[in-house]
Amino acid sequence: MPAPTKVATISCIGPATQGGAVVCKSDSTATFTLDGKQVAVASADGVAVIGLPRTAPAEVTIGARAPDAAVEAVATIAVLPRKDTESKFTMECGKIAPQTAEQKRHAEVSWVKKDKAMKTFSQPVAAFGFIKPAEGPYSSPFGAVRTYVPKTKDCEGSTSVHNGQDIAIPTGTPIVAPMGGTVLLADPDLYYEGGAVFLDHGRGLLSVMMHMSRIDVADGQVVQQGEVLGLSGATGRVTGPHLHWAIKFRNVYSEDRGTDIWLDPALIMNLKLPE
Ligand SMILES: [Zn+2]
Repeated sequence: MPAPTKVATISCIGPATQGGAVVCKSDSTATFTLDGKQVAVASADGVAVIGLPRTAPAEVTIGARAPDAAVEAVATIAVLPRKDTESKFTMECGKIAPQTAEQKRHAEVSWVKKDKAMKTFSQPVAAFGFIKPAEGPYSSPFGAVRTYVPKTKDCEGSTSVHNGQDIAIPTGTPIVAPMGGTVLLADPDLYYEGGAVFLDHGRGLLSVMMHMSRIDVADGQVVQQGEVLGLSGATGRVTGPHLHWAIKFRNVYSEDRGTDIWLDPALIMNLKLPE
């Protein structure tokens, strides 16, 4: 007689919003799929966070398969639409895209550092839950479509989606870890990001704090929630001092870091894991 077929379990907390995330529980170290594509692995307690693209459809299917289960369990989650704004910025050409040989080299070196850092995945070092990385009002939201208009006729403009949440604070305001994590990259001078800290929280989630004037942590350092990472500033591609806080969801099953997705920090702030 054939052995009974083991089916994985799955339960997810929804609905979610485009650019947010779904928390699902399955069996220990289960593999999760999003619309058929492997995207996350459960921790020992069976829990995983699954990031949703800003353009996710109105309904997604999440699957879970435990290592010893022959059949995948599936859950269908409703996804609420976003209402993003559009805005225009006037900037110097060098801030829209690298123009000179020196700027191009700076951008290339920055890209290589980020790409290398982003290939490292760390385990969670702290309980799950976010706080704001700086005390200040939210300014430009995640998801806004931005058109950069050149100040001079020396270059073309460009349009991009704002991939983080801005917090309006003067230069010199302390920036703290929004959740505990491992510093993957702490650099005072990246081309677009300026002074930046890339902090890996585990579970595929990475915070990036940008435009800082001072960095007080180093690559590989483990920090706890609320620990000071440095001071805010106006470095990199900015029109004035503020903190740009971005959260990236990295797919542990993919080698291609270009397919990772940015999530809306204002939504992720409200995310809770089951007790
Ligand atoms: Zn920003």
